[in-house]
Amino acid sequence: MDDEALANLVRDRARRRCEYCQLPQTFSSARFQIDHIIAQQHGGKTVASNLAFACLADNNHKGPNLAGIDPKTGKRTWLFHPRRQKWASHFRWQGPVLIGRTAVGRATIAVMAMNLPHRIAQRAALIAEGVFPPRT
Ligand SMILES: [Zn+2]
Repeated sequence: MDDEALANLVRDRARRRCEYCQLPQTFSSARFQIDHIIAQQHGGKTVASNLAFACLADNNHKGPNLAGIDPKTGKRTWLFHPRRQKWASHFRWQGPVLIGRTAVGRATIAVMAMNLPHRIAQRAALIAEGVFPPRT
């Protein structure tokens, strides 16, 4: 599979939504990116099972990180793995605020700065329009 076919697969599989914060690409001015879940720096391969579709904010904050600190317990934990874990098991919405249901969810929210004020404000605006969160 060439790079473009792989990128299309990842984008379509994610239904053009960020696999971390669920933001649809259509509501972002910045192009979403193909994220290496396990970064190439750590030996992660460019294969469908290691790729996720991610918004610029999440991808930038994640960088090559694999783990974070659960703010509730102070313990180190892996970040959310969109291929191996179910989103709804680790996250839930409280209005426009993303809540971690688990240590993985909480650490991921912290590392990716998913509840920065401008991100919450954007979600609140989309909720007011009736277009977020996406109905799965
Ligand atoms: Zn995102």
